[in-house]
Amino acid sequence: MSRVCVIGSANVDFTVALSRLPLPGETVSGGTLLVNLGGKGANQAVAARRLGGEVRMIGCVGDDADGRRIRESLAAAGIGVGGLSASREAATGTALIMVDAQGRNQIAVAPGANHRLTVEMVAAYAESIAWADVVACQLETPLPVVRWVLEEARRHDVTTILNPAPVQPLDHEILALVDFLTPNEHEAAHLTGLAVDSLDSARAAAGRLLASGAVAVLVTLGARGVLACCGGDRAAHFPAFPVEAVDTTAAGDAFNGALAVGLAAGGTLEQAIPLANAAAALACTKRGAQDSLPERAEVEAFLRSLDGSR
Ligand code: ADP
Repeated sequence: MSRVCVIGSANVDFTVALSRLPLPGETVSGGTLLVNLGGKGANQAVAARRLGGEVRMIGCVGDDADGRRIRESLAAAGIGVGGLSASREAATGTALIMVDAQGRNQIAVAPGANHRLTVEMVAAYAESIAWADVVACQLETPLPVVRWVLEEARRHDVTTILNPAPVQPLDHEILALVDFLTPNEHEAAHLTGLAVDSLDSARAAAGRLLASGAVAVLVTLGARGVLACCGGDRAAHFPAFPVEAVDTTAAGDAFNGALAVGLAAGGTLEQAIPLANAAAALACTKRGAQDSLPERAEVEAFLRSLDGSR
């Protein structure tokens, strides 16, 4: 069994689908409400679990109905939620999303309890970090917590993945604690100050991030797949799998959750990246975040169907 510990956010997403987005001060009625569970941490935990990983999640929700709903849903999916604290000081993280008929959106996020996660809260579950084969973090929880988790994982020789989303400046010390850094093009550009819009420019940005200390940088390139760069100027491009994409929400989360499971199973990057690309491609074929994350059997059938068509 591949053991994955995710330290990250859990949110409730309230989406109203409308004919058009409102202007400032305007009300547009006639929408349909959809309530979904999200947050990059929870999404990556669910992605890893659906692919057969043994998964634990550490995070913070509010001591409220939404927080209880998240806990129950993750537990029902078979994810260990002992490390999910309930804060009385803030509401469960909430995203308010409006989507128009063309699929354009406006999103407002109240991180709430996710930002109340402290090093003390996580340290109480340090055992889950030592237990894991792979620890996966993102940046929707406070940076001091992420840094502490990466240090603790390093102390126990546990492999770390940092998905630097939503992007914010990261110093050399934190990058030096990361084994696999997984920025998308926009995040790679933001972290390096370089324009990233091609394989060559992604390679240049990855080179800078490797020089800062990361062991490997995987720049995800949307429909163009992934560029994996390691020390010694080694780089490999893994094209994305062709699918009819209807909604790319959570593609990055599917990729990171699958990467964690693939690496936790002892796989090399050459094995783990195709699994992650396949899971992410399938996530693009369905609407929604957690609802769109594929099961292991679907990913394997998809990979077999591609083999068959070659
Ligand atoms: P994010 O969702 O974090 O912005 P990307 O857009 O780079 O990240 O997508 C992450 C991964 O999802 C890609 O590396 C690729 O494997 C997969 N992916 C994204 N868009 C598509 C697509 N249109 N077709 C197939 N795979 C895709």
